[in-house]
Amino acid sequence: MPVKGDIMANYQICEFCGNLCKQRTNRMCENCEETYRKIRSIVEDNPNTIVLEISNQTGVSVSRILSFVRNGYFIMKEGNIDILK
Ligand SMILES: [Zn+2]
Repeated sequence: MPVKGDIMANYQICEFCGNLCKQRTNRMCENCEETYRKIRSIVEDNPNTIVLEISNQTGVSVSRILSFVRNGYFIMKEGNIDILK
């Protein structure tokens, strides 16, 4: 698919942190993707970890974690989250 001449076409607003970042295949910037991986590895290792505990372990705020839930990367369960398969 041909790319239009608009330089903005190469950039996007990250849906998670709102930063302008280079266009990527998914809609999150590299920082957020790293954050997502961190959360995901905790959930994979310990599926029963509550959101607050994930927040404590990663230093990622609860609202950031919930933004991944809102965008369909995790499923919210009672107090903890599950990976969307
Ligand atoms: Zn971001």
